Amino acid sequence: MKQRFTLIGSGLAGGLLGAYLGRRGYDVDLYERRADPREGNIVGGRSINLAVSTRGIHALEQLGIADEALRHAIPMRGRMIHDKSGDLHFAQYDVDPNKHINSIGRAALNTTVIEAAQRYPNVRVHFNHRCTDVDLTEAVCYLEAENGQVMARGDAVIGVDGAFSAVRQSMQKKLAEFEYDESYLAHGYKELTIAPAADGSWRMEKNALHIWPRKSFMMIALPNPDGSFTCTLFWEFEGPRSFATTKTDDEVCDFFWEEFPDAVPLMPTLLEDFRQNPTGSLVTIRCAPWYYRDKIALLGDAAHAVVPFYGQGMNAAFEDCVVLDECLAEFPNNRERAFAEYFSRRKENADALADLALENFIEMRDKTASKTFRTKKKLDHFLEAALPGIYLPLYTMVTFTRIPYAEAARRGRRQNRIVYASLMIATVLILILSIWVVRSLAR
Ligand SMILES: Cc1cc2nc3c(=O)[nH]c(=O)nc-3n(C[C@H](O)[C@H](O)[C@H](O)COP(=O)(O)OP(=O)(O)OC[C@H]3O[C@@H](n4cnc5c(N)ncnc54)[C@H](O)[C@@H]3O)c2cc1C
Repeated sequence: MKQRFTLIGSGLAGGLLGAYLGRRGYDVDLYERRADPREGNIVGGRSINLAVSTRGIHALEQLGIADEALRHAIPMRGRMIHDKSGDLHFAQYDVDPNKHINSIGRAALNTTVIEAAQRYPNVRVHFNHRCTDVDLTEAVCYLEAENGQVMARGDAVIGVDGAFSAVRQSMQKKLAEFEYDESYLAHGYKELTIAPAADGSWRMEKNALHIWPRKSFMMIALPNPDGSFTCTLFWEFEGPRSFATTKTDDEVCDFFWEEFPDAVPLMPTLLEDFRQNPTGSLVTIRCAPWYYRDKIALLGDAAHAVVPFYGQGMNAAFEDCVVLDECLAEFPNNRERAFAEYFSRRKENADALADLALENFIEMRDKTASKTFRTKKKLDHFLEAALPGIYLPLYTMVTFTRIPYAEAARRGRRQNRIVYASLMIATVLILILSIWVVRSLAR
């Protein structure tokens, strides 16, 4: 008999996983608490657009839907740094100018993956169904729907229900050995808009990810196909200058004119956006194990939510889908083994990504503004070109390859040590040589 999977959550990873499992011939029921995104509901609580790169694209390609998903994507070839003075510095992401990340609308991507799943007749998607509890040993989900309570019974449940996963909460409550750790940043985020020009074009460089680094906080902007940019302000919740203390229109205007003077004239709805858009929180979630017997598994943010500063949360969730699919193919008659294998292949990498994403916040908000950072990036590109296949900058490994995150992090640290040691040795040699020359001339 066909194995029956119940998936909770049809966000980005849920839709994609539904398609992968559908392709493998399983019977799949996908339950989503929200309404159908095609009916125009906004995917609230998450960013409007996001960056998809090599890992995410690979996962889409395996299902033949990458072109469809990337149809309206906008390539971003590097970071455009905005000084307070309004000066701009562009830093290409990679020595190869063809390497870029892609700004893509979350709602459109969500629709693409859900439709890809629905193309398989063995996949059914049920919107407006909120999971409230899971019976772990029986793989039964309890859901609230418009007409009351629903019970979904399958052979296995996969929690693809995001950072605040109900499936994971059931595991936390019922499994004594379940490890769980969540940590919130002191910063929240708010989305704002840079409007298109009157003719519908972009009022800043279109093919870049814009950053206004301001040491302890920052604003970024990603382009949208309609000529607008979605800006995200990452700022402290509390403190003398923070979301908590900036309430009135005058306070908001003063803050923006002081910190982002070149952006304010492009943001006609700034005050409205600031008042109306929610302030989101940023959480890192680590837990283990991501499965229970052959009954339950967690995937995507439900297993490993990370802060968004490497632009990899969704890319990693998509990579999870590829790995779980591979494990189910390797162990078709032993689902527990497949889940265990999937967990062991992904856990170390998810942990490494969580650390990388936290480190990159400091890099983006603080270091990108400095000359040293720009010199280091140039050195990275020089070494990458001079030592092809030997030296790969960390950002390149994470964003433009499928080298496992943990391996990329280790290799990045090793390379840094070698580069810094070489620079030290070169400096000392230059010093010795200079002293020798000066002494020789003095004789
Ligand atoms: C500001 C911000 C910017 C980001 N930018 C990027 C980026 O540039 N690149 C990138 O790769 N990642 C980015 N991310 C991360 C990315 O959004 C997540 O990693 C990704 O959405 C994870 O997908 P998911 O399907 O696991 O979870 P989600 O996308 O959160 O989907 C979970 C789904 O489950 C549903 N659900 C939740 N609870 C229940 C329930 N009880 N019952 C039924 N359904 C339920 C939800 O409605 C939702 O549809 C960003 C995140 C944030 C916050």
